[in-house]
Amino acid sequence: MRGLFWFRNDLRLLDNEALHLAAKQCKELLCVYCIDPREFDETPYGFTKTGPFRIQFLLETLHQLKASLQGIGGDLWVLTDAPENAIPQLLAEHQINQLYYQHQAGTEEAETVENITQYCIANSIKVYGTHGATLFHIDDIPFSLDRLPNIFTEFRKATEKSSKVRPAFTAPKTITSIKLDGANQIPTAHDLGYTIPEPDPRAAIHFKGGETAAMQRLQHYFWDTQALKEYKETRNGLLGADYSSKFSAWLALGCISPRTIYWEVRKFEQEIVSNSSTYWLIFELLWRDYFYFVTLKYGRLLFQKGGIKQQPQDWSTNLTEFEKWRTGNTGNAFIDANMRELLHTGFMSNRGRQNVASYLVHDLNIDWRMGAAWFEHCLVDYDVASNYGNWNYLAGLGNDPRENRYFNTQTQANRYDPDGEFVRHWLG
Ligand SMILES: Cc1cc2nc3c(=O)[nH]c(=O)nc-3n(C[C@H](O)[C@H](O)[C@H](O)COP(=O)(O)OP(=O)(O)OC[C@H]3O[C@@H](n4cnc5c(N)ncnc54)[C@H](O)[C@@H]3O)c2cc1C
Repeated sequence: MRGLFWFRNDLRLLDNEALHLAAKQCKELLCVYCIDPREFDETPYGFTKTGPFRIQFLLETLHQLKASLQGIGGDLWVLTDAPENAIPQLLAEHQINQLYYQHQAGTEEAETVENITQYCIANSIKVYGTHGATLFHIDDIPFSLDRLPNIFTEFRKATEKSSKVRPAFTAPKTITSIKLDGANQIPTAHDLGYTIPEPDPRAAIHFKGGETAAMQRLQHYFWDTQALKEYKETRNGLLGADYSSKFSAWLALGCISPRTIYWEVRKFEQEIVSNSSTYWLIFELLWRDYFYFVTLKYGRLLFQKGGIKQQPQDWSTNLTEFEKWRTGNTGNAFIDANMRELLHTGFMSNRGRQNVASYLVHDLNIDWRMGAAWFEHCLVDYDVASNYGNWNYLAGLGNDPRENRYFNTQTQANRYDPDGEFVRHWLG
């Protein structure tokens, strides 16, 4: 059997079901990643969909993945092309009979898969699509998607009660690569039209892409510092590397799976301590799962002006006000400090994200989609479901009828930055 493994947001060897399957079933395997040029498109708001921090993290991850695959006899071919062009072409050129990939959320992503699947059906190519992006496997949650509860707590309680997290898959030991002519170079950021800014010394953490760095972060947060022990108390922090796990960027590209994190928490609970903090990290991973399933359930609605609720609202699209928000020049020190952190580092704490999002939609009444697009551009951990799900929620367009996500930024600043340390850190 000759297989093609199409890497997407599952850029890892460990706990990669589709890769595990492909390595077992195929005599020869071609591993491919497509850098989709549509990701560099301009938004209507004057910036590209993807910004430099995200590109840098992706390229680092691809280099690491390529080296890991080469270490077991495989290789990674990185193409700058839309997958629906590149994948069928490779399947045809190399007489491949099986295609493997992991499912992911998002309507554009689903259309791409649909196009490729149609090609495969027409050409008798067998397709294996696995589900490995979430903590709970989609077949194990106690609801069909159309019956997914509109309230997170209902989803969480029922899932905690009746579902089990599956064991993680081991990494493949060997892969025999299909040999292609010529060398395949991963493009540089410059090739893709990007200039990467110098790392900002004020950043909470320097994110480095790849599976090895993800596992190192896990080792650091759980075992070296045991910061996990106090996660519940520290998670609303604003400054420093360890107030929260910072797993999000690696989770977004699939450098690490939520299951790997889960089983490591269980090990920590057995060997060190089991407390409300160890529980809370898994609780947060359930939020991530929830938004993933919400995205599958509601599809396009998640990206529309009226959101999931389809609630008509007169948003402002005042670009001058938006520009001030985006660059951290609103005059509200707490908001500006958070927005500058995002602008200069590609990261912002969860507390910060809630406040700046609430400020944009509730205080400035600006179209939430402009804020979501700016987050998409900047965030090193951008994830379609978590980003658009949280923005829907914050804008009051989510699916929870009880929600009112207004944050009084002054009260929040007094509570979470009482001495103004965070504001001084970013505004000087
Ligand atoms: C407006 C807005 C936009 C957001 N956009 C994104 C995004 O694009 N990508 C992203 O990964 N997260 C997003 N989040 C969620 C959250 O802010 C980040 O996951 C978190 O701050 C990342 O830091 P951490 O890994 O240290 O989190 P921790 O506090 O250590 O949490 C552990 C993990 O749980 C998950 N998690 C925690 N909170 C949430 C949440 N509210 N929603 C979904 N998952 C959660 C993340 O995977 C995170 O890595 C957004 C939140 C808001 C309010």
